[in-house]
Amino acid sequence: MLREVLLQASEHPGLRRVVTGWGVPRRLALRFVAGERLEDGLAATRRLAARSRSVTLDYLGESVTDAAQARAAAKVVVEALDRIGEEGLPAGVSVKPTQLGLGLDDALCRELVGEVAAAAARVGAHVTLDMEGSDVTEATVALVEDLRAGGADVGCAVQAYLYRTPDDVRRLTAAGASIRLTKGAYAEPAILAHQDRLSVDRAFDDLARWLLAHGHHPRIATHDHRLVARTLTHARDLGRGPDDFEFQLLYGVREPLQDQLVRAGQRVRVYVPFGDQWYPYLVRRLAERPANLVFFLRALAAR
Ligand SMILES: Cc1cc2nc3c(=O)[nH]c(=O)nc-3n(C[C@H](O)[C@H](O)[C@H](O)COP(=O)(O)OP(=O)(O)OC[C@H]3O[C@@H](n4cnc5c(N)ncnc54)[C@H](O)[C@@H]3O)c2cc1C
Repeated sequence: MLREVLLQASEHPGLRRVVTGWGVPRRLALRFVAGERLEDGLAATRRLAARSRSVTLDYLGESVTDAAQARAAAKVVVEALDRIGEEGLPAGVSVKPTQLGLGLDDALCRELVGEVAAAAARVGAHVTLDMEGSDVTEATVALVEDLRAGGADVGCAVQAYLYRTPDDVRRLTAAGASIRLTKGAYAEPAILAHQDRLSVDRAFDDLARWLLAHGHHPRIATHDHRLVARTLTHARDLGRGPDDFEFQLLYGVREPLQDQLVRAGQRVRVYVPFGDQWYPYLVRRLAERPANLVFFLRALAAR
């Protein structure tokens, strides 16, 4: 219930305007976001690289309302890739399709993701399309298939909670895409998605095993230590070495688990968001863990 309310709040433009003006949410956002500038994202990348993590840099933003915003976002992502190349950082990028115009002008989105993929190829970095709400799932999977058919190396996130995901995973794998497996962070109806934690976890576990058996460099994105342990067991059973897949975790979440995996010789990639459009991202992180909300409300009360 609380999760649904928060997820609806994450999409409310009025709340976004009010909340982003307050100092407390801004400071809380810095727990989960490297900062508002590209330089902040790059500085976090250097710090993480020094601790044996690789990074996927995410320029925050989603659901743009005009083509100029989409082009401006793509420009920042290409600049991030150029900087990754210049500095030789162990990093790629994540992009939200609706940030580059999906749902507004699909042809423009295809053109811009293509530009990002070309910039990534120039510096040997990887691009993953984030998976957003179910209204754009089919368009996102089709976009990856289309771009890959045209020779662009683009990967894709999938959400274990959606009933359709096993089919999407097979389609994306057939297209050669590297897949990031997540539980899913949006509010989806029972007709489309598992609602209870146990079913989502079971779906995630099945998909992780399938990806480790058949996928191209699977990217297992979770902070759930039980699913991490299950993934390690599957990898061992299936003979997947630590260089053939990776774990992904979000910036600022469960750092001891990151340390534990690095010490065990696993590949760990941290998803590092930067930019001033942090409101929906922050509210989705609050929805994932009620304790974060308590921390937030205490900080507000203490003002
Ligand atoms: C690298 C990465 C990329 C992602 N990309 C996408 C995407 O493209 N599309 C999408 O829909 N979702 C994405 N997600 C979010 C994902 O769908 C989940 O909402 C999120 O990861 C929480 O699920 P969990 O697997 O960590 O398990 P949970 O069961 O939610 O969490 C397990 C434990 O991890 C800790 N934890 C989890 N979340 C938080 C938090 N926010 N703050 C503090 N502790 C926390 C808690 O201790 C919790 O008990 C991504 C997640 C990661 C790690």
